[in-house]
Amino acid sequence: MVNELLFNEFELDQKDIPEKMRAVILRKHGGPEVLKIEEIPVPKPGPDEVLIKVAATALNHLDVFAREGLKGPGVPKMTLPHISGVDIAGHVVGYGPTLTLQPEAPKKGTRVLINPGIGCGTCRTCRNGELSMCSDYQILGEHRWGGLAEYVVAPAKNIIPIPDHISSETAATVPAVYTTAWRGVVTVGQVRPSDRVLIIGASGGLGSAQLDIAVAAGATVIAVAGSEEKRKKCLEMGATAVFDSHGNWHEKVMEWTNHEGVDLVLDSVGAPTFRKSLNCLKMGGKLVLSGATAGDFPEISIREIYQWHRQVLGAPLGNWEDFLQVTDYVWQGKLKPQIHAIYRLEEIAQAQIAIDERRHFGKIVIKIS
Ligand SMILES: [Zn+2]
Repeated sequence: MVNELLFNEFELDQKDIPEKMRAVILRKHGGPEVLKIEEIPVPKPGPDEVLIKVAATALNHLDVFAREGLKGPGVPKMTLPHISGVDIAGHVVGYGPTLTLQPEAPKKGTRVLINPGIGCGTCRTCRNGELSMCSDYQILGEHRWGGLAEYVVAPAKNIIPIPDHISSETAATVPAVYTTAWRGVVTVGQVRPSDRVLIIGASGGLGSAQLDIAVAAGATVIAVAGSEEKRKKCLEMGATAVFDSHGNWHEKVMEWTNHEGVDLVLDSVGAPTFRKSLNCLKMGGKLVLSGATAGDFPEISIREIYQWHRQVLGAPLGNWEDFLQVTDYVWQGKLKPQIHAIYRLEEIAQAQIAIDERRHFGKIVIKIS
């Protein structure tokens, strides 16, 4: 009976929801020219799902990888056609048929942020809140259609309200990079105020979030970035020292630390920087990996790991607690996500070129409605 009532409620909503929406549909892999806007039917939410009218979606390298059809170990299989877009803010316009909708679930019209991580919900790691450890783990925008569209369907349990003083554009910068950065710096890296933290690629979406969090934690932060302008911005965000990614930064880091090395390195560049990052660690230091945007087969000597009591740790995305803790910090103004530029949906190709060329500092956001 309840099921039927709620289903009817959604059916009634249909009069306010158009039949068609604009979306960036990937029908084949390739360069930015494959990004085309089409009019397609608005998706219908299934059981325990919610329909969101998208306000803003932040881009990630994931969107570029989805377009290019990246293949490799650990890269999920994608089926075409596909709509990417992982980081989504918008407002609730309808619920699908459901029996389990909680009374505290955001009402229609509420502005919400989506946690893009989806687990099976019943396995041991899901029950522990560790969605990204679930063998059935999915990411909205990667395994399911995402937010580069006017409407998106998400599990009702994955949305949280956005406070009035936070813009949808700012909220959209948080889920992927800030949750991953919180996981890497706080949960896995266990940063302490006395730590020296080295951040490789500190100007990117993830790097600038790691910098923001490490500075907020009171650590001494050394940032490596590729241009004078980006390094200046890192200093403004609270980095104590900055070095050029095109130079011999690893030697400079060692000089700067009196050849002691640092406590924690965050490297998401991958193969080209892995060995240098590892050798900037002091005895017993931690190297945290959250990506491999420039390649995933580094040349290393494993002696450089074990002889130095070093730890190499993975931090892909985060758990529910990481997501809730970091959003809370952003809502409180203790963290300041950096928006490099805001593009319209029609400018998606230019926006992806900008992220691919790495000229940006922080996030690139697509304003959708
Ligand atoms: Zn699970």
